[in-house]
Amino acid sequence: MDGHDFDLFVIGAGSGGVRAARVASRLGARVAIAENHRLGGTCVIRGCVPKKLMVLAAHFGEDFEDAASFGWEPTHPGFSWQRLVEARDREVSRLSAIYERLLTDAGVEIISGTASILAPGTVVVGERQFLCRNILIATGGWPFVPDIPGAEHAATSNEVFELKTQPRRVLVVGGGYIAVEFAGIFHGLGTEVCLSYRGEQILRGFDGDVRAHLCGEMHRKGIDIALGSTVRAIRRRDDGLLDVAGEHLAAARQPFDLVMYATGRVPNTVGLDLEALGIETDAHGGIIVDPYGQTSVPGIHAVGDVTNRIALTPVAIREGQALATTLFGGEKSVADHDCVPSAVFSQPPVATVGLSEEAALDRHEEIAVYSSRFKPMKHTLSGREERTLMKLVVDPVTNRILGAHMVGPDAPEIIQGIAIALKMGATKADFDATVGIHPTAAEEFVTMRDPEIRRRA
Ligand code: NDP
Repeated sequence: MDGHDFDLFVIGAGSGGVRAARVASRLGARVAIAENHRLGGTCVIRGCVPKKLMVLAAHFGEDFEDAASFGWEPTHPGFSWQRLVEARDREVSRLSAIYERLLTDAGVEIISGTASILAPGTVVVGERQFLCRNILIATGGWPFVPDIPGAEHAATSNEVFELKTQPRRVLVVGGGYIAVEFAGIFHGLGTEVCLSYRGEQILRGFDGDVRAHLCGEMHRKGIDIALGSTVRAIRRRDDGLLDVAGEHLAAARQPFDLVMYATGRVPNTVGLDLEALGIETDAHGGIIVDPYGQTSVPGIHAVGDVTNRIALTPVAIREGQALATTLFGGEKSVADHDCVPSAVFSQPPVATVGLSEEAALDRHEEIAVYSSRFKPMKHTLSGREERTLMKLVVDPVTNRILGAHMVGPDAPEIIQGIAIALKMGATKADFDATVGIHPTAAEEFVTMRDPEIRRRA
């Protein structure tokens, strides 16, 4: 012993913290990890995993309807919210237990409770105090709800995962990842959904064609999307239902059983007293770190959503891995934040890698856009009007693919493969030289031939 209890003390057992802890321990460091909830963090406990299971559940509604067009006897199966929730929660518990086993097997000491940093090198959990060579803040993010009258009646994704019964009518506020994903989940499971978004089009930051296409498809499925809409106040009625006052909500059928706010997430730093410690934060409260995860205070590091960079699980995992390697692996390692693919598990899903058309035109005078809209093969029989969108944004000078975008079934699965090509610097000629797999939707990515040239305005 050198007077320290641990070489690394990790605060927060989510994706980034757990990866850092396991890798550091494997590299010979003495590691502890503190968690005040269940092991697994947002992704496993109240984010990606339970959400995706609900997305999968929501798809069955249309599948049952479409089955008749493929020769199956028409069925009208009932849906049990309770059975879905029980099955989902069993899976979440299983994964949380796996996290525990992975940490224990790696030799990491798990400490249950809320940790705070007394001073650089000193962590306190309840009555216990630990001296640590390094501290890693990996406390993730937390839903943000604007301060409006009646905000206390609003649920966030945290509470939605706790719902014991299915709401009949929901207002989802926001137009980002979580809002469009939950609008699709509720709608697919049979709940009447209105989505209220303050801007002109949902999914700000995504490619313009993608945003418009998804909005159109969601609308076609029966989700009431109120754009340019603001919620001013929420009032709980005597019968427990919710009335909402605001702009551009006239078409929304009130009252609602549930008002869900998905208006962004903020770095979760409550109780860490960052200012007193001298840890610098950005305008949104995100901890500022250098490329190696080092904060402004030596010996204190941060990874994942709490740093307010790219709030995605695989990115947090890479940041955790890089930090542990830098601290204990004898080599400086950084997580690559370039060309990160992402997906929105809306219905239909969206997936994207690289630059949107708008972002490409910020950097290039001229771009070539290849796009294709078509009816997925399944719907030639089902009769659904749904369309898939695929789009490539190309630099006409170098022929390199700058961005690939898709809205349609299996988009996340398809774009994951395309992302490898983009990461390798693929050109349109490389795509053209690749033989398609027929009949698939994905083959369209290698058969689009006629570009439209777009110039910066
Ligand atoms: P986003 O940042 O994606 O979206 C927030 C939405 O809320 C935006 O539409 C924003 O509008 C709106 N908004 C913000 N503040 C207000 C306000 N005061 N009043 C009204 N509307 C407001 O956040 P999410 O909560 O959806 O998700 C958080 C992050 O989690 C995502 O950015 C993503 O990184 C990650 N995530 C990833 C998922 C995935 O990979 N599939 C799934 C879920 C989350 P405006 O656009 O006008 O600013």
